[in-house]
Amino acid sequence: MSVRVAWLLSLLLLAGAFAPRARAGWMERTEAIMGTRVYVQLWADDADQGNEAIEAVMAEMRRIDNLMSHYKPESELSQINARANREPVQVDKELFALIKLSTHYSQITEGAFDITYASVGYLYDYPRHVHPTDAQIKAALPAVNWRNMLLDEAHHTVRFEHPGMRIDLGGIGKGYAVDRCVAILQARGIQRAVVTAGGDSRIIGDHMGRPWLVAIRHPDNPKKVVTRIPLSDSAMSTSGDYERYFDENGVRYHHIIDPRTGHSASKVRSATILAPTATQTDGMSKTAFVLGPEKALEIINRMPEYDAVFVGPDGRVLYSNGLRPPAPRPAGRPPAATVGSPRVPP
Ligand code: ADP
Ligand code: MG
Repeated sequence: MSVRVAWLLSLLLLAGAFAPRARAGWMERTEAIMGTRVYVQLWADDADQGNEAIEAVMAEMRRIDNLMSHYKPESELSQINARANREPVQVDKELFALIKLSTHYSQITEGAFDITYASVGYLYDYPRHVHPTDAQIKAALPAVNWRNMLLDEAHHTVRFEHPGMRIDLGGIGKGYAVDRCVAILQARGIQRAVVTAGGDSRIIGDHMGRPWLVAIRHPDNPKKVVTRIPLSDSAMSTSGDYERYFDENGVRYHHIIDPRTGHSASKVRSATILAPTATQTDGMSKTAFVLGPEKALEIINRMPEYDAVFVGPDGRVLYSNGLRPPAPRPAGRPPAATVGSPRVPP
């Protein structure tokens, strides 16, 4: 090597050593995973660290999708659906734990949340405008009952007691995935972030000292906001009858199924749940559709970690006790100061 080349090389190496680190700032990315929109926004002290963290989030989302997708015949979930009506099917510890956890939400929602809804749910095809006939629903409905799913804790096996039973984790898998991603970001030292998968989001920290302002959209108009909620260090799920649906003869066929009837559950138009984790909020966001807003509020108000906002069929907005607007101010008192806040993109 000539002296000049050696000089040049050592100069380049020196320049590398003293190069300023890529700048701190907000970074974001959106990808289509789990049949939905996955979004992450985070504050990174340097761009490389931020990119790696975002990469790790997307990889985790893909990993969970591969485990739990019912669209992928090779997924463990598909294996259960193919064989558990004949024999106990052994599954991965993580999947077993989530299936077990889903029965906890069945219990506290009095059966409104039930992953065996899929025994009827698979008869709907929303993009193709297909829904089952009453006779088809009647034939498939006896298979819907989470209590007929036998979970063997010692061997991590799942067995269906009814031959027509199928399960689907679409009502809790995204919330779970969001929580996993949040844990990954926290382990990497990220202190401010939002992770979203479909209707399920969780916020780490705040937005530089101010809460995020999260909008709840109008069920019929995505541009209209029903209300905004300031949030930090919290999870939020919104379920709506406008997400996957089609209308036929004045009936809306949408993706939240009443496990008792096999029909789309229509007691509210949208339900937003707030709680510390996205698994919790996802597990609870279907309740009001099935049980109605009053019963759902009764359940939510019993659990101090949870809050809720429901939009009824008549457009009425109902709040849980923790979110009730304050009583009117006595005359003459000035309003409390309000500050502008950043927004979670819808
Ligand atoms: P997103 O998928 O956007 O997060 P939701 O949280 O509202 O939407 O979940 C809707 C999904 O929940 C449906 O697409 C379906 O997979 C599943 N599901 C529908 N009805 C039920 C039910 N009664 N219990 C449990 N899961 C359900
Ligand atoms: Mg959800």
